[in-house]
Amino acid sequence: MRKEILKDLQPYGARLVAVSKTKPIAQIREMYEEGQRIFGENRVQELVDKRPQLPSNIEWHLIGHLQRNKVKYIADFVQMIHSVDSIALAREINKQAQKHDRVISILLQVRIAREETKFGIPAHDLDRFLEELLQLNLTHLSIEGLMGMATFTDDEEQIRKEFTELKNGFDRVKASFFPDHDHFREISMGMSGDYKIALEEGSTLVRIGSLIFGAR
Ligand SMILES: *Cc1c(COP(=O)(O)O)cnc(C)c1O
Repeated sequence: MRKEILKDLQPYGARLVAVSKTKPIAQIREMYEEGQRIFGENRVQELVDKRPQLPSNIEWHLIGHLQRNKVKYIADFVQMIHSVDSIALAREINKQAQKHDRVISILLQVRIAREETKFGIPAHDLDRFLEELLQLNLTHLSIEGLMGMATFTDDEEQIRKEFTELKNGFDRVKASFFPDHDHFREISMGMSGDYKIALEEGSTLVRIGSLIFGAR
């Protein structure tokens, strides 16, 4: 299935984050041997347990909600954190990255779903959030784009609307805050059930678990 997905991604130039949460080392290694290099986990403990058992050139992405007090466990190796939704969290990532003399890539998680969720920056707060964030001059962060999760529903038009909202937010933020900043280029959206819609709406990073690894 991974091959078919890669074929779908190609015309869009999008990349695949293989979401390996709950999956055993052997299955992850198998996918690594097929050439997959970017893996995503949503829990710090699981990521920290798995990483030493797998090749060191894997690019690990943290895609789930991250508590501030856990940043220190992943700061020496994590490549990208997709779920930054508070200034306090951004500051902590910067602080821990600095300790390791690293720059960590981050995405700002935007709340686009109609479902009640605690996570993500409300879309209408995004500009204010960025103004505050950029004023801090956090030199150990590379702000590379936005992430969002659509409502869990069969209503494709609803999903499409939410992805469009994220894309519009990205375009607006890009124009206002990062016009000459090549690194601000990622839109992380699309999972097993909705990645094709996400690609059509401008995704650059799809996060796919069950479709390639099997149901959890
Ligand atoms: C689990 C998870 C995914 C992948 O979900 P699938 O439906 O298995 O593809 C994507 N993003 C986040 C944030 C997740 O937690």
